[in-house]
Amino acid sequence: MVCWTFALADTSGRVDAETAAKDHGLSFHWFPVQKTFIFEKAKDTVRFAIDMPFATYKGKSIELSKAPVMENGHILIVAADIAKILGKQQAKAEAKVPEAKAPDKPAQNVAKSKNETAGTREVRTIVIDPGHGGKDPGAQGKKANEKDIVLAVAKLLRTELEKEGFNVKLTREKDVFIELGERANLANKWDGDLFVSLHCNAIDANAERKKIIHGYHFYVLRAPESEEDKAIARRENKVATLYGEKNAKEELSPLEWFKLEARLEKYKQNSYMFTEELLKSFDGGKIVKQANGVGGAGFMVLVGAMMPAVLIELGFISNLEDEAYMMTAKGQQDLAERVAKAVTNYKAAVHSYRETLGR
Ligand SMILES: [Zn+2]
Repeated sequence: MVCWTFALADTSGRVDAETAAKDHGLSFHWFPVQKTFIFEKAKDTVRFAIDMPFATYKGKSIELSKAPVMENGHILIVAADIAKILGKQQAKAEAKVPEAKAPDKPAQNVAKSKNETAGTREVRTIVIDPGHGGKDPGAQGKKANEKDIVLAVAKLLRTELEKEGFNVKLTREKDVFIELGERANLANKWDGDLFVSLHCNAIDANAERKKIIHGYHFYVLRAPESEEDKAIARRENKVATLYGEKNAKEELSPLEWFKLEARLEKYKQNSYMFTEELLKSFDGGKIVKQANGVGGAGFMVLVGAMMPAVLIELGFISNLEDEAYMMTAKGQQDLAERVAKAVTNYKAAVHSYRETLGR
């Protein structure tokens, strides 16, 4: 989409969004999967979605006179709406100076403020979520079921984390079925500071491919960027549709992604911080890294968690060597120790970040 002329409004007052953004000195990004687009300037982002009559800015909705539409490969948006939004951005920028000078509020007497600045939430309660269970075996290897491996690792991980003084909760203690949505509800009820969902990856392919595809991978909740990540999320989400969960589906709609955006923003930084620590602690183990080790996709189990959340695929159960290692007590203990080390280092990283902010 290249247009060298200044955005011209059509009869309904709509202009080409990309051209309009550039005219205002903003950068423009289009996300075809979610059908959303953003205007960005110096880390300030306004997000729009096709056919949605509002935009989001700093977690708040701004009403638009008309929803942006897609026509002949162009995104059209009402010019007056852009002016209105840019006006708000301007006002916000001007309001920033007095805001910064305002004295810090005295410490509240509540155990923990849920409105903490992103990245400063203390790390005390770790919610471990062993994936699948009961009638849902998860992925099946030659000998083992995903649900059994992740439960075993979860229990060992709890022991390791308790040694480090963490308060640890498990979404399931035994071989029972728990709906995906309920797992996040439990984590919220327990006031978790970090949600760790444990899984084993798998591919449906011939023996040759199964031999080649192996390794660990960490996932945050994010609009998927590759078909591969989408496929993994669909497999992990399948439980919802297979086992009759209410409102079950395998993928999030563009509208749902849009609604999630502000919340994801709040926990994104910490979720990624944790994956950084996981990458370090998993380095050098028996199971190797798959691709670059970190991805994002629409995992339903992470959607409801009001805290930083990461889904860990410990290895490929469809790969004989990964499966064998994940089945042994030694392998499970090693994996648990690596996750525990990452949690401990993540806590330290958050702590030092808090200190730089003087909290
Ligand atoms: Zn799984």
